[in-house]
Amino acid sequence: MNEREYKTCQICGARWCPDLELHACDTSKTKIRLAVDLAESEAPYWMIERARQGYYDDYESHLATPLHQLVEDAQGNGLPLIAKNAKEGVYDGTQEEARVWMEREGKGLLGI
Ligand SMILES: [Zn+2]
Repeated sequence: MNEREYKTCQICGARWCPDLELHACDTSKTKIRLAVDLAESEAPYWMIERARQGYYDDYESHLATPLHQLVEDAQGNGLPLIAKNAKEGVYDGTQEEARVWMEREGKGLLGI
């Protein structure tokens, strides 16, 4: 019996097995890219958690202005570079994410 131990990545939430692979977070998703940047900036864990859950994400957040919230949280927690990046659009949703969102919710909203 060869048991494998899986771990849950604290940044992106992916399950991975250290015996089988080296884990790298999937930074093609904007929210994960942000979570990685927050982790590298030693942001408080709750901010990384929020990022991973899409709280700051253009297309996943329930907030009206998620990136504005990100700027505020970053400034309030000593992360000026994250705040600057957010203002400059570094964490804006991608075209692909816009397309997925449109498939999921946009059609109903726009009546097409
Ligand atoms: Zn990860």
